[in-house]
Amino acid sequence: MVLGLYKPTNGKVIYKGKDIFRMRRREWRKIRHKLQMIYQDPYESLNPRQKVFDIIAEPLRLNKLYSSKDEIYDKVMGVMESVKLVPPEDFMIRYPHELSGGQRQRVAIARAIVTEPDFIVADEPVSMLDASLRASILDLLLGFRDKLGVTYLYITHDLATARYVGDRMAIMYLGQIVESGQIDELIENPMHPYTQALISSIPVPDPEYTRKKKRIKLKGEPPTPINPPKGCRFHPRCPYKMDICEKEDPEEINVNNGHMVKCWLHIKK
Ligand code: SF4
Repeated sequence: MVLGLYKPTNGKVIYKGKDIFRMRRREWRKIRHKLQMIYQDPYESLNPRQKVFDIIAEPLRLNKLYSSKDEIYDKVMGVMESVKLVPPEDFMIRYPHELSGGQRQRVAIARAIVTEPDFIVADEPVSMLDASLRASILDLLLGFRDKLGVTYLYITHDLATARYVGDRMAIMYLGQIVESGQIDELIENPMHPYTQALISSIPVPDPEYTRKKKRIKLKGEPPTPINPPKGCRFHPRCPYKMDICEKEDPEEINVNNGHMVKCWLHIKK
């Protein structure tokens, strides 16, 4: 499976052909364990009063996925081993404050995958960890993608990690997707001025390349999303702004094989 996006169409979020916002409560209960979340902050996202075993077992109990305590025990211990909380007998009786940041995030990942989900929203899952731990946590997530077929929606400000883990990427500005497509295509051939500025700011560990590279510096600060600018939301900061940009919001168009851009520069008039 790929790491990517379920693209909402007309404000719907479709899971297996059904809009999850229109499901009846009973239908929603049946599928909610298939949709999980990993939060950014491993210090805040775990209940400090629960032991590691209970944190991981809770979704199994809540969703009534196993009938016996022995089954729950075996499942939790297996998942703890798979996220490298070993030996699990040692970690199962600890509280979150007795763990390092990396170990807490492994508990959060174990809690998300224990229900064998199809889809996980991972919100900046490594941004609060030391650089030395990031690669191992990302590799863990990719391992579950390959083994379990889980799809991630990976939210990040860090384009370098996005490229490491992603297949498709969507760039958001003020709450709107302004460009999306295959991740390599977007990074090699960015077409929206905001994406171009973001990509020009990625540090590259090559002094020769860095000297030649032209960094695009945007002027001003992003306006408030509560009261976004009329027309294209990026126009107050865009170096290519035209008259129409202030008046009309451009439609998203397909410029190349699923590479989608929302910018007047690419719309033929
Ligand atoms: S629509 Fe206009 S203002 Fe918006 S990004 Fe494109 S050129 Fe810039």
